[in-house]
Amino acid sequence: MAQEEGRPTLSEINCQEIAQWASAYVDEHVGDEQKHQIAVHLAICVGCETYVKQIAMVRDMVRLLPKVVVQPFDSHRLRQAFAARARPSPAGS
Ligand SMILES: [Zn+2]
Repeated sequence: MAQEEGRPTLSEINCQEIAQWASAYVDEHVGDEQKHQIAVHLAICVGCETYVKQIAMVRDMVRLLPKVVVQPFDSHRLRQAFAARARPSPAGS
């Protein structure tokens, strides 16, 4: 993708670098100078700003979520649920 590179500012980083640094930036794992460069870029680039915001949002959501136990494949429960649907279970009497 040929992007316009009409800005000779020496310490300016591009969108690709933002993509690389986005998660580190969100986690504050970047140096002050880098942080500043990224902030400057985000101020002028809506695409990257949205991108970083989304990453931050996802991070926050993951943090808020309770620890989800991901089971490899819950086939037993699935089968039970299916069986319960297939024939009405005699719940109650
Ligand atoms: Zn950008």
